[in-house]
Amino acid sequence: MFLLREEFGRLIDALRDAGYDCVGPQVRDGAVVYERLDDVEQLPRGFTDEQAPGRYRLAHGGHERFFAWANGPQALKPLAFAPREVVWQAQRQEGGIAFEPVAPAVRPTAVLGVRACDLAALALQDAHFLRDDVTDGHYRARRESLFLVAVNCSHSAATCFCASTGDGPAVRAGYDLKLDELDEGFVVAAGSVRGADLLTQLPLQPAMPEQIGRAAEQTHAVAASQTRTIPAGNLYPALLEKLNSARWDEVASRCLSCGNCTSVCPTCFCHSLHDEASLDGERVEHVRQWDSCFTSGHSELHGIPVRGSTAFRYRQWLTHKLGSWHEQYGRSGCVGCGRCISWCPAGIDLSAEVTALLGEAS
Ligand code: SF4
Ligand code: SF4
Repeated sequence: MFLLREEFGRLIDALRDAGYDCVGPQVRDGAVVYERLDDVEQLPRGFTDEQAPGRYRLAHGGHERFFAWANGPQALKPLAFAPREVVWQAQRQEGGIAFEPVAPAVRPTAVLGVRACDLAALALQDAHFLRDDVTDGHYRARRESLFLVAVNCSHSAATCFCASTGDGPAVRAGYDLKLDELDEGFVVAAGSVRGADLLTQLPLQPAMPEQIGRAAEQTHAVAASQTRTIPAGNLYPALLEKLNSARWDEVASRCLSCGNCTSVCPTCFCHSLHDEASLDGERVEHVRQWDSCFTSGHSELHGIPVRGSTAFRYRQWLTHKLGSWHEQYGRSGCVGCGRCISWCPAGIDLSAEVTALLGEAS
């Protein structure tokens, strides 16, 4: 089916009528971020992005498209795995302490503009937080609230390598609606029953075979335009052979241990838990917030950081992401979005690092 560009606002209206708060891409502080979306005019119409190691810039692309940029610093992660939240609280009372769970405040939320790499990353987060034996209730509540409107990428940043990891640029699964953006509008497909129900509310027309063909060519061209790659397969055995490589010290001489890479990475799930007591000592909140394997505190055991140097922390990040993740979740923890490359202030390039490391003579 096909939705004309001038009718795109009807999709936002239909989602709202179905009870969803809408979240969608918008330009803020020079980047595309996901914010509450009330009107089609808030979308980043005409923008494209230019990305390189340590560099992210928006530019006008000379077109009227809404989704002709690759990605911004956020993916879906903050919408399902909150950056900071109270997970339980306790109150002093007569005869002891009362513990109370704290339910997350969740509203049904439709996210517009989700990319293939974002969906792949969400599936990885699901594997971590929604295991058969242990389920994270806060994550589940947020995750189940999401209605996902995905878009096949029509533009790849120079930092993208999703074709190499097999996670993009074509959206394959995990969406409610899928769009291919053409100059005149959108080829639309449903990926769920509720997605199909929503389509009945839109002024759609049949998609012409020529439009479907153009959409497919566009996605193929995006895949072909990607130049970055990472080696395929389970890299864990090969990485274990490099634990004493001098490359870790070399990259540590550039790495600031700032944790930007882990914050923007859509699959990173490390977090810390701490208690925040009220000043009168009557109440305490148990808070979970994102943490990073680049902080000293994250590897502390009995007050001693196990990974006391930046070289050890970078090694942990790369060998977990591309190596031991296979043992935990049956695949690499990288979906090729390239965010850690663009948003690293030192311009450190994960794909270049792993290629150089594995290319060293043993
Ligand atoms: S690799 Fe880059 S983003 Fe990550 S901690 Fe080092 S300097 Fe920061
Ligand atoms: S490691 Fe880098 S490229 Fe891979 S998913 Fe995380 S942010 Fe994206």
